[in-house]
Amino acid sequence: MRDLDELRGLAKKAAQQAYAPYSLLRVGAALSSAAGCVYTGCNVENGALPIGGCAERAAIATAVQAEGAAFRLAAIAVAAFATDGAQLPVSPCGACRQALVEFGAEAAVTFRQPDGSWIEVLAGDLLPWRFVMPNR
Ligand SMILES: [Zn+2]
Repeated sequence: MRDLDELRGLAKKAAQQAYAPYSLLRVGAALSSAAGCVYTGCNVENGALPIGGCAERAAIATAVQAEGAAFRLAAIAVAAFATDGAQLPVSPCGACRQALVEFGAEAAVTFRQPDGSWIEVLAGDLLPWRFVMPNR
């Protein structure tokens, strides 16, 4: 697994690419795969608000594109900023939590707390009652 500080730095950099004219919340994500590669993503909003996408799922889509169905999530960092550059405490949304556990319930997830420190938790702990497709 890549160093979480490295992922935090890459998440901050990815947030600079965000397209967020509606929420004014610029979010970046950087993840490492079990194969040792790093992928990033940013939020991409749309005037038709529900079709906008989160940084975490953008990074996951890039990882799957590169590694295919074998992709497994090792760690992910999420960083968020206001348009004035102030860092904001943002945790993955519910939809992203579901996406994270799909690829790695044991993955490390790190994001800022309100006091400015970074927390590190397991993806599965962010969504303990996640949906699992039943075997049929
Ligand atoms: Zn999300």
